Amino acid sequence: MRRPGQFKMVLLGESAVGKSSLALRFAKGQYQEHAESTIGAAFLTHTLQIDQDTSLKVELWDTAGQERYHSLAPMYYRGAQAALVVYDITNGESLRRAKQWVKELQQVNANDMVIGLAGNKADLATGNRRQVDSNEVREYAEQNDLIFMETSAKRGDNVTEIFMSVAKVVASKQ
Ligand code: GDP
Repeated sequence: MRRPGQFKMVLLGESAVGKSSLALRFAKGQYQEHAESTIGAAFLTHTLQIDQDTSLKVELWDTAGQERYHSLAPMYYRGAQAALVVYDITNGESLRRAKQWVKELQQVNANDMVIGLAGNKADLATGNRRQVDSNEVREYAEQNDLIFMETSAKRGDNVTEIFMSVAKVVASKQ
């Protein structure tokens, strides 16, 4: 059963897109250039002040992106009220993988999960490294009812914002 005032959120996406970095930036305001990769799943919590009267504790599950752990994923997203699916704007393949995650979540979406989509590493958009067009993803996100932002865990851009946007929708449903 879910209790008011907190919710479970799972991070999904290909390996190395920056899931752990987003979690660390969100929960601790930090960034590490050479973070160790997640094995299985890691757990972090952070409380968000939604408005004057409402705070929500986010229980964030950071899952390993490797295919070999895919069969474990349902264990983490089952019972989650929200998911943040992450891709890397410099890696077109990671968007394809993100779309598969979205499809999988929507197919099993028993509890009306709120889904965010983060195009991470937006700081690398300059200098010809961008492979993913943000307008195309925005259109895809609108069609699929996803909260979409481009983020940078490195610079901190849009990190609190995307978690906050997802949390506000979760709060409105509780
Ligand atoms: P995960 O496997 O999806 O959890 O990815 P990590 O958080 O371990 O990040 C993979 C690599 O990408 C690390 O070297 C990070 O420092 C780097 N990284 C993560 N987020 C960003 C970002 O916003 N910008 C840049 N330039 N690099 C990032």
